[in-house]
Amino acid sequence: MIFPVTTPIAATMPRMDPIRSCALPADQTRTPSLAGERPRVLLVEDGDEVRTILASFLEKEGFAVTSVATGEDALHEAEQATFAVVVLDVGLPGIDGFETCRLLRQRSDAHVLMLSVRTDEVDKIVGFATGADDYVNKPFSPRELVARMRAAVRRQAPTGRECLELGALSIDVDARQAIVLGTVIPLTRIEFELLLMLAKREGLVVSRTELLTGVWGPTWVDSGSDHLVEVHMSNMRRKLIAAGGAGIVRTVRQHGYCIDSGLRLSA
Ligand code: CA
Repeated sequence: MIFPVTTPIAATMPRMDPIRSCALPADQTRTPSLAGERPRVLLVEDGDEVRTILASFLEKEGFAVTSVATGEDALHEAEQATFAVVVLDVGLPGIDGFETCRLLRQRSDAHVLMLSVRTDEVDKIVGFATGADDYVNKPFSPRELVARMRAAVRRQAPTGRECLELGALSIDVDARQAIVLGTVIPLTRIEFELLLMLAKREGLVVSRTELLTGVWGPTWVDSGSDHLVEVHMSNMRRKLIAAGGAGIVRTVRQHGYCIDSGLRLSA
């Protein structure tokens, strides 16, 4: 198998501490892959050989793979079925991976992992801004790809019901849903993790560095990636505002962000 070498994007996520049981109705639980089922994966890659080999590898690793060669076909498949993970090549004929990701986000909350031969940070920023959750440079190790995909699937699996109630905002931690005034907010994984970090420290200002460390992992802190936080925070807040949650997340200039209730600065 020849997809050697990988990028060092951290897939580590903060450990979830039990909060309290949540009384949301069961039909609000998102279950892209039920326990015991093989996680459904949508593989979008125009290179015939790579697509065929990778699809076969993923099947052997226990995923149920639907593979397509274009963004248009990927969007069509996403209308037909719910996928736990979408592995999305950036360089595609027709609409490219970035645009596919943006359109996919309007209909799917699957974990989107982008593949690209481009290595500069601009591409990473564009990828995350369009709603991607993770990013792997070609050439890559299929074993690491699988490890990341499994971690994403594990994070999606509902294990119990815990929720945070913060005024107009409710967060169902296990279903990984944020609800504002009864409306489920279609957050990406990154946006949800940012919101959850703020919610767990309600009333405290959380710095961009803390958010980077907690959501992306410590390797991102030194890479001047504060703007990554800003991009995702901005997208998340726009969704909260659209549901009537304009005041939920506040920016504290020079310090970071806060879900406000008697604001005080941390450290
Ligand atoms: Ca390609």
